[in-house]
Amino acid sequence: MENGITAHIGGLKCDSPTCDYKDDSITLEQYESYIDAPCPDCGAPLLTLEDYNQVQKILSLVDLVNSLPEPTEDSKEKGKISFEFNGTGKVNVKIEKLDE
Ligand SMILES: [Zn+2]
Repeated sequence: MENGITAHIGGLKCDSPTCDYKDDSITLEQYESYIDAPCPDCGAPLLTLEDYNQVQKILSLVDLVNSLPEPTEDSKEKGKISFEFNGTGKVNVKIEKLDE
């Protein structure tokens, strides 16, 4: 039975609003080595320490939710939560409900 939530975190995009550089091949495990790494196109940071810390908080949240008791039958709605970072340490959270 599928239970709990899974974090799909990966890829990095340039923090500059005028630059559309992104690399989807970067994995979450590699994030640490990209802290303050400059964008190859424009030199803006790809991942600030603030954003990296937010990612760690999200991962702890995922762990926390997954440690809760099993959900009841009527709470099995599926949804998708996405987090967007822009280098300010603030996060843009988007929650979509998925229809089965
Ligand atoms: Zn850039």
